[in-house]
Amino acid sequence: MCQSDSQLEAKITQWIRPDIRALSAYTVPDPSELIKLDAMENPYSWPKELLAEWLDLLKTVSVNRYPDPNADDLKIALRNSMGVPSNMDLILGNGSDELIQIILMAIAQPGRVVLSPHPSFVMYKMIAAYTNLKYIGVPLKNDYSLDLPGMKRAIQQHRPAVLFIAYPNNPSGNLFKREDILEILAISDGLIVIDEAYHAFANCSFMNNLSQHNNLLVMRTVSKMGLAGLRLGLLAGHKKWISEFDKIRLPYNINVLTQKSVEFALNHGTLFTQQSEKICDNRDQMFQQLNKIEGIIAYPSSANFILFRTPKGKSNLIFDALKSDGILIKNLGSTNSLLRDCLRVTVGTAEENKRFLLALSGIIQSQA
Ligand code: PMP
Repeated sequence: MCQSDSQLEAKITQWIRPDIRALSAYTVPDPSELIKLDAMENPYSWPKELLAEWLDLLKTVSVNRYPDPNADDLKIALRNSMGVPSNMDLILGNGSDELIQIILMAIAQPGRVVLSPHPSFVMYKMIAAYTNLKYIGVPLKNDYSLDLPGMKRAIQQHRPAVLFIAYPNNPSGNLFKREDILEILAISDGLIVIDEAYHAFANCSFMNNLSQHNNLLVMRTVSKMGLAGLRLGLLAGHKKWISEFDKIRLPYNINVLTQKSVEFALNHGTLFTQQSEKICDNRDQMFQQLNKIEGIIAYPSSANFILFRTPKGKSNLIFDALKSDGILIKNLGSTNSLLRDCLRVTVGTAEENKRFLLALSGIIQSQA
């Protein structure tokens, strides 16, 4: 190492927080030419006429001007399309990731705790680390259902400032029991955020419960319904909570192209509803086909992906072999003891799913 390199290292050590230096960045694999079934995206594109209409609209956008800081028109479209109760307010984020960050920045104080069932969406834990909060993950049961007594004990012991519940859960795909979540709401002093990222495929929601609980927030995203590239998440809740979060939202966090494009897309909502319905049909077929493959156990899903268990010790090998066959899914085998030997596949087009299932059964057979 030359002197300037070692001086640079010393500066970094001096100024970057040790806990940040110890973290690994969130990495996203390069899909290159692979069939991409790793990130819960909608695989369908738009009809030509709709694309042309959208591009015409974009021609009218003034990119030299800042966007509407409150995205009022977009909020109206979101309220209608997502059924946000009229007495509740909305805050928008650059993806729901940003909303998780805003919530945690607003409550972060030494000693405070963020809690979620575990395994769940990794960003709850990661953003808790960025904001210097302690994260507690309460293990799910072996079938990925909620351990209600365990959750209640953890809530009493740690008194979390925020509790995230992904509904349906990622990576397991299941919906926790509604009565269990209501019990958790009743005994919690802190905020409960129901993360309904996969709502388009589950059609179950806590949106209509918002008025009954002063500590409830409901988070959604347009990513999974087919607009992941636009980066837009929304958080619905009591006006008083939302106005506190709004104080730390960066001005103009939703760019003008996203505002116009999401509003346009929501005005053509039937297309996305139809695509989501097709994804649900494909998911149900894929679930049955997966369970027919010797040695594979697929878990029931209310989302646009399926978690499945491979024969003991084989998840890395199967993941790599699928990649060599041109298919990228998600390897979870080493992330958590409850996910040992597990892989997660996003539901793609019928053709992509067929290729995945064919490749997987071929790999399993060659291992037998
Ligand atoms: N919540 C859950 C449960 C998720 O799985 C994801 C993304 N995989 C998100 C939130 C983040 O979504 P967004 O694209 O809106 O940041």
